[in-house]
Amino acid sequence: RPLVSLRGISKVFSNGTTALQNMSMDIRQGEFISLLGPSGCGKSTVLRIIAGLGDPSSGTIEWPTSNHDASGKALPEISFVFQEPTLMPWATVFNNVWLPLRLKGISKQAARDRVLEALEMVGLEKFAEAYPRELSGGMKMRVSIARALVTRPKLLLMDEPFAALDEITRFKLNNDLLHLWEKFGWTVIFVTHSVFESVYLSNRIVVMAARPGRVVNDMAVDAPYPRD
Ligand code: ADP
Ligand code: ADP
Repeated sequence: RPLVSLRGISKVFSNGTTALQNMSMDIRQGEFISLLGPSGCGKSTVLRIIAGLGDPSSGTIEWPTSNHDASGKALPEISFVFQEPTLMPWATVFNNVWLPLRLKGISKQAARDRVLEALEMVGLEKFAEAYPRELSGGMKMRVSIARALVTRPKLLLMDEPFAALDEITRFKLNNDLLHLWEKFGWTVIFVTHSVFESVYLSNRIVVMAARPGRVVNDMAVDAPYPRD
């Protein structure tokens, strides 16, 4: 069974813009999907709908394997990484990464190992006591990835996470993300308008077009060269 099923999802905003037209797709466990397309084709809208940050105008979204609350609503375990790292400037790296666990009522002491493990995944365990202002753009992005991973989500949604970084940092983070994904096997949906990123990272590319936002291609891809 898929992790998530989108069935005929459309989104028309109140100003009349059709951001998304009749999108259907199954997202299976372990896939690394790129949503690839020009600005305005509805990529962020899809992610927001999957994350429950906006309702579709029509269509349904199902989580066949998720836990459900008392009313039968699915409780998907999702993390979201935005283009801007959105860290709390007054809090240390450790406390920033602890935040999602803290919101679940997990104390700092109880969260310690998981926070350090998440920081280790992104290579920042030595910076636990640093403040965001002491870090480079790429490091801040790593912290926000650690914060997304600390809850061990089933689905990681990334909205052009590296778009604001310089090319070398971006390439490095792409590499690290790929290695983490190969090691831990999460399910990832990665929004990008970079053909390079989509081919390099993903095993499935969903190509979208704008006006109205829609899917024009959905294809499996093999890594074009061997990975170590
Ligand atoms: P909905 O129909 O989902 O309620 P709205 O059209 O009411 O959405 O807009 C929600 C918010 O998005 C409003 O605050 C609005 O100002 C803002 N918004 C409007 N147009 C755009 C746009 N083109 N891109 C991004 N945000 C927009
Ligand atoms: P992408 O992420 O691919 O750049 P978006 O999902 O942000 O595209 O937007 C898809 C379309 O919907 C665009 O035309 C955008 O201007 C419009 N849009 C996005 N949010 C809103 C909103 N809140 N209100 C009105 N139009 C919106």
